[in-house]
Amino acid sequence: MSTAKSSTFRAINLIGDYWLLLLMREALLGATRYNEFYKRLAITHATLSDRLKRLVEGGLLTKSANADNTNGPEEYRLTDMGRNCYVVLTMIRQWHQRHPDLSGVEWLQGTFVHSECGHAFEPRLACATCGAEVHADDVSSKPGPGAGIEPVVTMPVQRQVKVRKTGAERSISGTVGIESDRWSIMIMAACFSGISRFGDLRERLLMSPHTLSNRLSLLTSQKMLTKRAYSSTPKRYEYVLTAKGKDIYPIVASLMQYGDRWLSSDGPPMLLQHNPCGSSLSAVLQCSACMSPVGLEHLVFGIQ
Ligand SMILES: [Zn+2]
Ligand SMILES: [Zn+2]
Repeated sequence: MSTAKSSTFRAINLIGDYWLLLLMREALLGATRYNEFYKRLAITHATLSDRLKRLVEGGLLTKSANADNTNGPEEYRLTDMGRNCYVVLTMIRQWHQRHPDLSGVEWLQGTFVHSECGHAFEPRLACATCGAEVHADDVSSKPGPGAGIEPVVTMPVQRQVKVRKTGAERSISGTVGIESDRWSIMIMAACFSGISRFGDLRERLLMSPHTLSNRLSLLTSQKMLTKRAYSSTPKRYEYVLTAKGKDIYPIVASLMQYGDRWLSSDGPPMLLQHNPCGSSLSAVLQCSACMSPVGLEHLVFGIQ
């Protein structure tokens, strides 16, 4: 089975999983050893081994012998591709700050400081050309040089995750939020690209009707989408982004940009234009204090 090429979907397939996101967060905050990840997260050994392997295979981490002591524990180090996830992770954390009720992940409380200007700030996604904050309504799209079709990647998708109970390896199930549920983010990404009808979403995402109905119910109950009838006989519905739903756009846009940069060797499948300035959109993480782009080397996060 094939579907239209999408950098956003490629990025979601790479990191759009509850534990992968949390492991990348901890790696960006400095964790390098297996036991550090294990202690910081309520993850079981089986899941931790599996996800670290996936991050190494995906090119986000490298596994190497400890530099100081070759008999010591192995270290997981971020690659350039891994470090560049910071924009996606920061956008997820900012979205969670605005909508804590929708998120199932404990995203960290703390303050971002921009070390270049020295100010505490709220990170936001901005157009690199004009500096304006990126909003879904200001962006239009057209097919890019990498457009086409590709085979569908199938992955297990569940909203339930196993969470380790403190101490022992007994685990309980938890439900993940929209930002770490692969299907929910894929539906939202499809809606931003202009797909709104049930049948079209099903064709684009190749989801089972049951799973698609389930996630659409979830997204409408959380007021991310509204359901609107576009045909009365037979009764057919389309799903329209609400203002609250559009607020997740910085996550989707940063996933797409990440996929364009690291996962699209044949060029971006889709090109975005920032309509207020007319330039092709290159989005950067911007400091709200000095309005400059913030690189990872100047992003300091103090945990409260
Ligand atoms: Zn612009
Ligand atoms: Zn600044």
